[in-house]
Amino acid sequence: MEKILIRQIMFQEMREELKNSEADAEMYMKFMKSHCCYEAIPTSCKLVIFDTTLQVKKAFFALVANGLRAAPLWDSKTQRFVGMLTITDFINILHRYYRSPLVQMNELERHQIGTWRGDSFKCVPAILQPLSSQYRSRRQPLRRHLFPTEKETVPKPCFMQKTIQDVGIGTFRNIATVQQTASVYDALSVFVERRVSALPVVNEQGKVVALYSRFDVINLAAQKTYNNLNMSMQEAIRRRCCFIEGVIKCLPDETLETVIDRIIKAEVHRLVLVDKEDVCRGIISLSDLLQAMVLSPAGIDALLAS
Ligand code: AMP
Repeated sequence: MEKILIRQIMFQEMREELKNSEADAEMYMKFMKSHCCYEAIPTSCKLVIFDTTLQVKKAFFALVANGLRAAPLWDSKTQRFVGMLTITDFINILHRYYRSPLVQMNELERHQIGTWRGDSFKCVPAILQPLSSQYRSRRQPLRRHLFPTEKETVPKPCFMQKTIQDVGIGTFRNIATVQQTASVYDALSVFVERRVSALPVVNEQGKVVALYSRFDVINLAAQKTYNNLNMSMQEAIRRRCCFIEGVIKCLPDETLETVIDRIIKAEVHRLVLVDKEDVCRGIISLSDLLQAMVLSPAGIDALLAS
């Protein structure tokens, strides 16, 4: 109740501020700076932590079972957090050790997390204090708070009505894609080389037929199909458990507001930008929106003023 009241007061203040200011592009930045991470955390949620002596395979199964993308790693000898286990680890293991459907990957079957990572616990997880502003954290608050519910109508900056091609938010060149006839191993190679988070899957005509994300790779653990990475992308997509009908796309002449609405409704992290022939022309990811609208809104403002 108290939170709702505080928010209402804040929205009121923001509306007032907007009336008096032309620099509305900074609105989302101010909003994020004035809200703490704690507000974005669900009232009840679980935190899964892996001991570094846990078997790698069990850890990935545990990620799947708990619907997680990553978990902090705890070293019980030193009694401290030493890193994170993420889907990237799973991709790297599969990519490095896969030989053929007939050869078992011992590194995945037997090794402990600590053995696989060796000395590479370089990046101790960044810890945000619950009262740090959301400006410093990434996706979670973005979808929930940058684009609040209908009741909390935040005034919309005018750039929301601009088309995606005018605001230029997203990546439009050198898009990493994968053919639907390519193998899952080929897709893993692209993930490793290009470090992108999702690949539009295209047919022979270059039309987008699906999207395969890093998160989809974890399905290989869920379905225990990681021993057959020769499987085609077409097959992998058909088999994935949360099968999404089609791909969530957008066109260059759609407005930023439409694009954001679509991302929220579909609960996805990105849209594939296509032309009228359905050929892939770009990717608009939450991180692109975050960068343009929250972290460097002056850029978008300057661009539209010019
Ligand atoms: P993300 O990891 O989804 O937050 O995306 C990080 C950056 O990579 C963003 O600028 C995206 O537009 C870009 N990106 C995502 N997927 C691809 C892709 N398949 N090819 C090229 N760039 C991409």
